[in-house]
Amino acid sequence: MGDKNATESILADAAGIARAAEILRSGGLVAVPTETVYGLAARADNEEAVAKIYAAKGRPSFNPLIVHVRDAEHARSYANLTGSASWLAELEWPGPLTLVVPLNPDAGLADAVSAGLPTVALRAPAHPVMRALLEICEFPLAAPSANRSGFISPTSASHVAASLDERIDLILDAGPCEKGLESTILAVREDGSWEELRPGPVDLDALHRHYFDRGLERGASGNSIEAPGQLASHYAPGKPVRLNAERAEADEFHIGFGAVAGDCSLSVSGNLAEAGSNLYACLHEATGSDLPRIAVAPIADTGLGKAINDRLRRASA
Ligand code: AMP
Ligand code: MG
Repeated sequence: MGDKNATESILADAAGIARAAEILRSGGLVAVPTETVYGLAARADNEEAVAKIYAAKGRPSFNPLIVHVRDAEHARSYANLTGSASWLAELEWPGPLTLVVPLNPDAGLADAVSAGLPTVALRAPAHPVMRALLEICEFPLAAPSANRSGFISPTSASHVAASLDERIDLILDAGPCEKGLESTILAVREDGSWEELRPGPVDLDALHRHYFDRGLERGASGNSIEAPGQLASHYAPGKPVRLNAERAEADEFHIGFGAVAGDCSLSVSGNLAEAGSNLYACLHEATGSDLPRIAVAPIADTGLGKAINDRLRRASA
């Protein structure tokens, strides 16, 4: 950081990945592709490097970061992965599931990563570029979404550049993100019970029914687990957003789905996976349009639709 030149965006081939690793090793910031959204990575074992993430994003210091690791074994060097957390990591990683588990305070992670909480959020990403990067880095990577705090998450290198240009050292471009939605976040308590902190691509209800044949426990009262990124006004596109709109007013940019055509469509065939993957690109397009307001077609509230509707509610708050 420091100079005011536009941030360079390079192809995520072997040479690009090697260069990214070098910048990260020396404490710099690199935007990296993952299967969920683009992340803003820094080495998680270095206070100064982690502080740069908060500064570049304008992220409040109470909002902790997800630490990206190679696999469950790597995760065990930073946290207490016991019981269900351990087998969930073995079964679901690599993939879009983040586990919030008790932090090992002697593991050498920067304090700012967990924002002073006794827990840490860990994920082993599935994207081949991120996996290759983690293989050659001897340190873990803290990586929140690569956008200014509070705005729409990036699912392409150009989204990253539009939000963080000149504030970070490099962008690794590997095209659009497959899932397009941030990871599912699951807190696993010491007694083995689960709490969903953020819906996402992994359907926890289905997972829980599969393993336990019962519903997932939700948001216990007196909840001591902080999930500050889950503020109602997250993912703001900078314009009013109206949901469940079959038709749009003349001054609204209409995001369609299925039979509702719209100015752009999340998925013409009504496919929820495709809709998840296109959600932020459509919101970015709506933000960039001349129309002052946004309307969004109804989305079925089942499976992945729950995660999509969660993000849309926050975008409209
Ligand atoms: P982002 O990567 O920007 O989508 O943000 C990561 C999110 O992970 C944060 O906003 C928090 O909600 C969540 N998170 C990270 N660490 C913890 C933790 N120790 N406890 C609870 N939630 C966490
Ligand atoms: Mg974010």
